[in-house]
Parts: sequence; structure tokens; C-alpha cells
Amino acid sequence: MSDTIAPVRPARLIINGEAVDAASGRTFTTTNPATGEPITEVAEAGVEDVDRAVRAARAAFEGPWSRMKASDRQRLLTKLGDLVLENADELARLETLDNGKPIFESRQVDIGMVAGCFHYFAGWATKLTGETIPVSPAFFNYTLREPVGVVGAIIPWNFPMIMVGWKAAPALAAGNTVVLKPAAETPLTAVRIGELALEAGLPPGVFNVLPGPGSVAGAALVRHPGVDKLTFTGSTEVGRGIMHECANTLKKVTLELGGKSPNIVFADADLDAALRGATTGIFYGKGEVCAAGSRLLVERSIYDDFVAKLAERASKLVPMDPMDPKCRLGALVNEKQMNTVLSYIETGVKEGATVVAGGKRAPVNGKGTFVQATVLANATNAMRVAQEEIFGPVLTVIPFEGEDDAVAQANDVFYGLAAGVWTKDVKKAHRVARRLQAGTVWVNMYNFYDPAMPFGGVKGSGFGRDLGAEGLLGYTQTKSVWVSIE
Ligand code: NDP
Repeated sequence: MSDTIAPVRPARLIINGEAVDAASGRTFTTTNPATGEPITEVAEAGVEDVDRAVRAARAAFEGPWSRMKASDRQRLLTKLGDLVLENADELARLETLDNGKPIFESRQVDIGMVAGCFHYFAGWATKLTGETIPVSPAFFNYTLREPVGVVGAIIPWNFPMIMVGWKAAPALAAGNTVVLKPAAETPLTAVRIGELALEAGLPPGVFNVLPGPGSVAGAALVRHPGVDKLTFTGSTEVGRGIMHECANTLKKVTLELGGKSPNIVFADADLDAALRGATTGIFYGKGEVCAAGSRLLVERSIYDDFVAKLAERASKLVPMDPMDPKCRLGALVNEKQMNTVLSYIETGVKEGATVVAGGKRAPVNGKGTFVQATVLANATNAMRVAQEEIFGPVLTVIPFEGEDDAVAQANDVFYGLAAGVWTKDVKKAHRVARRLQAGTVWVNMYNFYDPAMPFGGVKGSGFGRDLGAEGLLGYTQTKSVWVSIE
């Protein structure tokens, strides 16, 4: 079933409408985590390339992009969404090779989201309006909704292709130009979408893609005075540093920094549905998902029975070749991430949790960074495995007693990205949804996303929103115009 034989051509930087080598001539190798084999060489952006790309983005912003009719911008972004669909098989294959996620997810889920973002936000290009404001008969007052300028986007390796849609589509629709740095771990789909943007007819410099190390290319983008806004998704530590650095040039900044999201199962829930939701909530995307329902809170009266069923279900979810269409649990992104995940499992056991499913590395054909679907039961909310983002297929299961205790434990964490509630009691569902400190609450469902629904965090999960009208507005600013008419 493995599909690592067909060669993947080297990836270059996309700067000012061209695929180019890095100024330094440097390249790096991107590898397939499912096999440990190299996939291809990638041009490695450095400080000089970042400067070139930002200058090109500035020129495009002040030139053709801002002079273009909104309906033409809409047409070009729609075309880019269409091209993503037309090239779906290639993009999905690149994504799975580079990231290790199941081809099922890349093809059936991620492609739709990326194309959906370009299509959805393309529609907004012609619908961004200001207001007229009644102040005085002597004045005519109105606002203009304007783009912020050049947007720097730094994205992680867990959803390399989806993140391009989440960040670039709204920024471009609002009339900004973009310099995007994909994670060095997974650069291939972002570069390919950069090529498709040129094919769609986006003018040179409007969308630039610079694979390269975060500490060099990412840091240069954050520091660059020609960047007006920085949007970041990734770790808390790097996000914090970016926010500090953005203060020097007074850049606007949006941060999405992961989570430790509670998924709450009340005894009165549809327990079969909750079981499915608890499982996909953590094991989808190998658990390398910022909104993963990694902290499962289960009402004490059903705890033992629910955990037993969960363990049975998790044990059936066997890691396999991500290129196999039947695969639902792929390889973790790299060895470092796999070791982090395995060490967290050890920590959980030392803290007193019980491994009731999985717990071990599980190479496929003797290779790869695969970890079994793992369930840690008898955990408490104070344990590190309940408080820290593991970012792997590890579910920590904690009992609770009643609604107040569920809410208190759910909120007792640094993060606030997402949460789930499973109950048949409609009033309780809405009450709990209001009390949870989270940017997204799913009721009787988990891990659903749509380009129209805003997504982002509260507390340690960051601020600002991707997606939806609110995501779009984050790439705009308001100009107030006063006109004397008497
Ligand atoms: P990082 O935060 O390091 O990476 C995210 C992006 O930031 C990458 O493109 C990275 O570049 C870039 N970056 C790194 N350092 C800098 C810098 N100094 N200035 C500017 N950009 C920088 O995440 P990791 O890959 O290290 O993952 C570590 C942990 O973070 C994971 O275990 C997980 O817990 C969490 N995480 C959360 C994500 C989320 O969706 N919220 C996504 C990914 C990780 P490059 O990788 O190319 O060096």
C-alpha cells in the first residue's frame, strides 16, 4: 500500500511570483515520519529571503492588489479554491508523506477545509463594508474597512495545509498581502499552494511562501518592520516570544497556542455517541490537534463502565501505514514528538494513572514514529498529564461528581481553547456551555470546524480568532472619515 516510491520534486521558495532558490543556496531534507525516509529537498529561507519577500509583499500591497476591484479579488481566490480541489490527490499525498497523518484525513477532510476557506473568504472580498454614522447635520461621517497591509503568518506542522487556508484566505480576501512561513517539518503543501496561487493569477508578491527554520526565517519575519500584522499558531513558548518581539515594531498579533481541552461526559448522555466522540476527540490527527479533547471528564456513576468501553475501542485503533486508505492512526510528526509523547505516558504512570489501552511505541513494518492509542485512567486533574499539552494519541480520563465539579475541573487549567459536553439534558448543555472557559464548545459532538465559525482561544490558548467574520476582521482596520458639508 505504501506510496513513498513516486518521487516528489524539490520545493523552492515562492517570492514575488516566482519559485526561487534561497539566497544562500541552502536546502534541507524533509522526511516521511512513517518510514524515516527522505521525501525531497526544500529551499531553506534565510533572513535575506524574508526581506525580499516582505518587500515584494509591500510592493504588491501598494500596487496591483490594492488597485484591483474587489470582485476580481473574489474571482482569483475562488479560482485558487477550485485549483486546490483539482489538485486534491497530489496535495493530500504530499500532506500525508510529510506529516504522517492518514491519507483518509488529508483527502477527505483537510482538502475540503482548505478549498472551503478560499471559497468562503473569497465571497467576503465584495462584502466588507464600512458604516455611515449620524454625528451632526453639519458633517458626513463614515468608516472605511481597510486591510492592515503585509501579513506575516507562521504556522505549525500539525495541519500544514489547513493552516494555509485559515490564515492566507481571510488575509488576502481583506486585501492584504501575505508572507507565510510553514513549519520546517512540513513545508510541501504550503509551497504547492503557493504555486497554485500563481496559477490562479494572483499578482506577484501577493502570496509568498518561505520554508525555513523558525529561529531564523520565522524570527526574521517577526522582527521585520515591513510586516504590519503577525498571525501565529504553535507552542505557547514561541507564541510568548513572538508577542514580546512584536512590541518592538508595534505589530498587531494574533496567537493560537494550543490547549488541554476538557471533553465532559455526563451520565445522562447518549453514551454510544459520547464514546465515539471521546475517541475521535483525541485520536483524530494522532492527537496532534490543538483542540484535541485530551482531558476526558466522566461522571463518577458511569466512570468504570465508560473507561472499559473506551479501552476496548482504543485497543482496536491500530497504527498503520498512513497511505493505506483504511488507516485511522498515523505516525507522529517526528521522533522528538514521539519521545515527548512516550515520556508523558511514563510521567502519567509515575503520577499514579493506569494505562488501560496502548502506552507503547508501535512501529509499522519495523519503522516510523507510531504510538498506540493510549488511555490513562484513574487520573486526577492535578496530574501533569491532565494539565500539560501532550500533543499525541494519549487520553487522560478523570472522574467528576455532578455539574459544578465538572465545570470547576474543566476550567482548572492554564488553557482555554475548546471543550465538549455530552448530555441529553438541553438546559444543562447550554448552562455548562456558558460556564466553560473556552473559545469553542461542542455539544454532543467534537472536533467540528467550518470556515464560517470563528476559532481561537481564551486564557493561555491565546487571543484573536481564525475563521468566520471575526477572523476576517482581524486582518482589517477601521478608518474614520469626517466630512464638513455645511
Ligand atoms: P513551535 O511553536 O516551535 O512551531 C510553530 C511554528 O513556529 C513553526 O513554523 C516554527 O518553525 C515557528 N517558530 C519556532 N521558533 C520560532 C521563533 N523563534 N520565531 C518565529 N517562529 C518560530 O512548535 P513545535 O513544533 O516546537 O511544537 C512544540 C509543541 O508545541 C508541541 O508539542 C505542541 O504541544 C505545541 N504545538 C501546538 C500547536 C497548535 O496547534 N497550537 C501546533 C504545533 C505544536 P520551525 O518549526 O520551522 O522551526
